[in-house]
Parts: sequence; C-alpha cells; structure tokens
Amino acid sequence: EQWDAAVAAIRALGGAAPIQLICHVSPDGDALGSMLGFALGLRRLGHTRVRATFPGEFSIPTPYSAMPGLDLLVPEADAYPEPDLVLVFDVAAESRLGGLAALVAAAPVSVVLDHHASNTGFGTIRLVDPRAAATSVLAEQLIERLGVPLDTEIAECFYVALATDTGSFKFDATTVAVHELAARLIATGLRPGDISRRIFDTRPFGAMKLAGEVLGRAVLEPAAAGGRGLVWTYATLADLARHDQPPYVLDTLIDPVRSVAEADVTVLVKQVSEGEWAVSLRSKGAVDVSRLAISQGGGGHRLAAGFTGYGEPGDVVDTVRRLLDDYLN
Ligand code: 5GP
Ligand code: MN
Ligand code: MN
Repeated sequence: EQWDAAVAAIRALGGAAPIQLICHVSPDGDALGSMLGFALGLRRLGHTRVRATFPGEFSIPTPYSAMPGLDLLVPEADAYPEPDLVLVFDVAAESRLGGLAALVAAAPVSVVLDHHASNTGFGTIRLVDPRAAATSVLAEQLIERLGVPLDTEIAECFYVALATDTGSFKFDATTVAVHELAARLIATGLRPGDISRRIFDTRPFGAMKLAGEVLGRAVLEPAAAGGRGLVWTYATLADLARHDQPPYVLDTLIDPVRSVAEADVTVLVKQVSEGEWAVSLRSKGAVDVSRLAISQGGGGHRLAAGFTGYGEPGDVVDTVRRLLDDYLN
C-alpha cells in the first residue's frame, strides 16, 4: 500500500507545476527539515516552481535559521494560490495547517508524508507510517525513489529532522535503519557535532534564565492518578516577555521535566493567549498519552503528545489528572 502511494506520488509529481510544500504550524526540526530537504530535491530534479511554507507567523526558530533550502521558504501569504500539487509534511491533522487547510483541500492532488499514529487520514496520496522515527525518513525514501542523489544540503535538512525527532537518537524509534540513514546522510560530508551544537546546545542567556524559572516552579505529585507520578509546570506569555524570548524556546523545556525519576507522566502548559494553553504531554511508557491528547482534540505519539487546553494552568492539569484517572481505570 505504501509502495503504491509512492508510485502514485512519483507519477503525480511528474508534470506538476507549481508545487507547494507545507508543514505544520510552529514548525520544529522535522517539519522544516523534511519539507526543505524535499523542496531541494525537487529543484535538483528540474522543478523550478517550488515553494515551501507553514501557517501562522513567519518566524523561523534560530536553531533552524541556517538550514539549507530556506531560500525556498515563503510566508503563508506568498504560497501559490492554485498549485497543481501540494505536499504536506509532519502534519497529523488539518487543524495543524491553520489557514492553509483550505489550500490543501482545494488542491487537485495532496501528498501527505507523516508519521503520527494519530494522523486523521486527510490527503489524496498518503505516505503515513507511524513506525517512522521522523517524517524525514519518509521524505528521504521518496527522494531516493525519484532518483535524486543525496547531497550535503539535502542531507543536512534530513539529518536535522532525524536528530530532533529521535531526541538525538535516544528514543525507541531509533532503529538500525535510522542509524543506517544517519550514516548515509553523514557520509555526504556533514559534521554532526557542529549541527548538534547549533540546534541543541546553543541558546540565549535569557532562555536559560526563563528555563530556570519555569523548572523552579515545577510540581511533583508522586501518586497523582492510580499511583502514577505526575510532574507539571507552566510558562506564561509574561514569562516570555520578561526574558524577551520567543515561544519556541519552550519547545525543548519538557525534556528536563520529563527526566524526573518519580514521574511517569510529564505536563508542560504553555500559554498561547489569554485562557488558551498548548499542553505538552510525555510518558515513560505506562500511559499512552496520545490517547489522552486525542480525547481533547489533540494528537501525537504514544510517549509524546499534545492538545490545546483552556482556563488557568491548574485547570489544565486538573483535566490531565482526570484523563489519567479515566485511562488507568
Ligand atoms: P510537543 O509537545 O513537542 O509540542 O508535541 C509532541 C507531539 O504531539 C508532536 O508529535 C506533535 O505533533 C503532537 N502535538 C502537540 N500538540 C498537538 C495538538 O494540539 N494537536 C495535535 N494533533 N498534535 C499535537
Ligand atoms: Mn513536528
Ligand atoms: Mn515529526
């Protein structure tokens, strides 16, 4: 079935112009890396009318501001209005496409490359594999089928995507095949140390101070639900403003929280606007947090998921506690 989808995608890409590539709102390393690597591949194939975009505010997180292919990235408003074909990267649900959902729905062909178990099934040609460690794994397979040789630029995009979505090759999805792909990417001449330093180990002083505050107010509930430990904290827009930091600096802040030994489930509640919060959930394995997230209209993976919550941070955590109780009973 996957093979048929790849064949269909290759056939559809053949004469298509223009081609619009899209990834999810607030793009992470996998969203940007899989999309830009694929966009560069299309350019190598001779496609000249290729643009990449994502919904919402056009700001690129500093860790990704040196990624190859950024010259193909345009603000949402400059997307091709009537593309022959759209390619959608790392998007679990149309709700993650913001204002671009209509463009995807109207396109004659939409090719969806994704690896979320919660993928809702949109799109006309679907390359969706929840076993894939990153969307870039699927993007690289399709690039290879198209006959594009890997070069350092395409490889860097896919490597950034792979490294971010595997937590630096730490998560369960880090298989032999993932390391083999990483090896092929590195063999093009990448310097993994330089890339890791840039995307994981560089941040402004203000971001560190902000992290100190957010981590400092974390609460541990050793037996929150069914004896399962819960650790949670939150960050407000005022916290960001006080340290003059953009919201994406909170994206990796769940990692030190999830390392707490006494907790099975981790919650980071990040303010989006007055009364609206982006909720990140992590599990050590006993709880499938994607099920909790899906029940709230969100999605994700078994051990990492998210949803939009409302009210105060305490209200959001109450909701999670209740969901955990339901889940464990
Ligand atoms: P994070 O907590 O790092 O933002 O997201 C963890 C995982 O959950 C990612 O795979 C992400 O796609 C998914 N996720 C986070 N928030 C949402 C949401 O509001 N809706 C959906 N569908 N997925 C989400
Ligand atoms: Mn993503
Ligand atoms: Mn991903």
